[in-house]
Amino acid sequence: MKIQTLTIDSHEEVLHVTDPVSALNAFIAIHDTSMGPALGGCRFWPFASEDEALADVLRLSRGMTFKNILAGLPHGGGKAVIIGDPGKIGTPVLFRAFGEAMNSLQGRYTTGEDVGVSVADMRYVRETTPYVSGLDSGPAASGDPSPLTARGVIAGMRAALEHRYGMACFDGVKVGVQGLGHVGFALCGLLHRLGAELTVADINQTQLGRAVAEFGATPIAPDDIPGARVDILAPCALGGTLNPQTLPLITAPIVAGSANNQLSNDMIGDMLWRADILYAPDYVINAGGVINVAAETSGHYDKRQVMRQVCRIGGTLQGIFARAKSEDRSPHRIADEIALERLRAARALQTAA
Ligand code: NAD
Repeated sequence: MKIQTLTIDSHEEVLHVTDPVSALNAFIAIHDTSMGPALGGCRFWPFASEDEALADVLRLSRGMTFKNILAGLPHGGGKAVIIGDPGKIGTPVLFRAFGEAMNSLQGRYTTGEDVGVSVADMRYVRETTPYVSGLDSGPAASGDPSPLTARGVIAGMRAALEHRYGMACFDGVKVGVQGLGHVGFALCGLLHRLGAELTVADINQTQLGRAVAEFGATPIAPDDIPGARVDILAPCALGGTLNPQTLPLITAPIVAGSANNQLSNDMIGDMLWRADILYAPDYVINAGGVINVAAETSGHYDKRQVMRQVCRIGGTLQGIFARAKSEDRSPHRIADEIALERLRAARALQTAA
C-alpha cells in the first residue's frame, strides 16, 4: 500500500492512498481539527478522475467542519472518498485496506458511512481500525445514521414552516421528496405519519413503487420534481440539484432536504432568497446523522440524548432564519458566517494555548 501526503493549503492533512492488491484508490482529507478530532463519512463513487475525487473530498471535508460546528459537536471536519464502482470493487479486502490506511492518521479522523457505503462495509473497516463509527454491533454501536438524519430534516422543516407561516404542523402540507434512498424513504415515512401529502421522484423504480404503496405518495418523473406544486421541496438525492436550470422551475416556498451540497454555487442561494424561497442550509438541516455517529465515538451512545440533540437542529435553523430576515440575506450566508466566527474563535484559543 502506498500512502502519499499531499500539501493543500486550505486543509490540515490530505492523503492519497493506493493499493493494487485490494484495488483501493482513495483520498482522505482532514480540513480542520480546531474543534476536535475530525469526523465525517466515506463516499464510494465512480469518479471520472482522481482530480474530480480530490476536489470532492476537499469540498466535503470543509463542509463537515461547518456541519459539525453548527451542530455544536466537539469535532472538526474530515471526509474520505474511494474511487470506483461499489458494485464491482466493493470487497471486504478493499474495506480492510481502507481501515489500515485510516490508522496512519492515529485518530485525527474517524470515518463512517456516506453515499455508496453501507453499515456492513464499515464492519470490514472496523476489522483493521478503531477509527470508524456507524457500526451495528459493539457496546456503543449506533447503526445506520439515516433515520436520525431524516428526524433532523423534520425538525428543520418545522422551523421553516414556523418561520414562514407561524405554524409547525404537517397536516395537509404538500412535500415533494427528490430521492427515496436511506434518508428520503425514512423522511417519507415520518412525513406520512404526520399527515403530509407526498409527491416523490426517484430514478429507482423499486423505491418509487414502495413509496406509492406504503405512503400513498404521488410519483412524478425526476425531471419534474423541482417544479412540483408543493409547499416544501426536499432534495434528498445527490448534490447540485439547486442550479441555474432548476431554479426558475421551483415554486415551493420552502426548500428543506438532506442532500449535501444542494446549491450548485453560493449565488443560487442568494437567488432563492430574492425569489422569496426559504432555503434551509443543507449542512445545518442534515446534521442528524453526524450527531448520531458523534455520540457513538464518545463511547456512550444514548439514543434519547441523541434525539434531543437532533431536535435542536430546529432551534439552530430558527435562529438562522430570523437573522436572515433581519439582515435580508440568504440563510446559507448566515450559516457560513456563524460557522466561520466559531472556527476563528476556536483557532484563536488554540493559538493562545
Ligand atoms: P442513498 O444513496 O441511499 O439515496 C439517494 C437516492 O437518490 C437513491 O434512491 C437514488 O436512486 C436517488 N437518486 C439519484 N439520482 C436521482 C435523481 N436524479 N432524481 C431522483 N432521485 C435520484 O443516499 P442517502 O444516504 O439517502 O443520502 C441522500 C443525500 O443525503 C445524499 O446527498 C447524502 O450525502 C445526504 N446525507 C445523507 C446522510 C445519511 O445519514 N445517510 C446524512 C447527511 C447527508
